[in-house]
Amino acid sequence: MRSLPYTLLGCLLGLGSLGRPRLAHGLLLFQSRRGFAWLFLARRGFVAVTFGRVVITTDPALPLPTLMHEQHHACQYERLGLLFLPVYLYWHLRAGYAANPLEQAAARCAEQWAAEHAAGSGQE
Ligand SMILES: [Zn+2]
Repeated sequence: MRSLPYTLLGCLLGLGSLGRPRLAHGLLLFQSRRGFAWLFLARRGFVAVTFGRVVITTDPALPLPTLMHEQHHACQYERLGLLFLPVYLYWHLRAGYAANPLEQAAARCAEQWAAEHAAGSGQE
């Protein structure tokens, strides 16, 4: 609920990407390569961005580890509420994308998810 303002923003940006929304793992996904998605993602070489509980992606088959990365950002939005974007931008400007603690935590979450599911698939 604390992420609601960013979720609404994500819906506007998703609609501004002319993407068709669908639900996946508790998130609302807009897939597109037009509008905002083109300006912010495709043109800059990014695959996905999260606002609240909304993920905007250029990839029609977003891999599950990437979705888990974005889902972790959605959890960060819930914890930080309106502070998410100022905190994210502070670390982005201070440390850069790869050293941003919010990105590192999301990357660890995706890696852990991938490792657990790789291990699980090998035992069957
Ligand atoms: Zn991220």
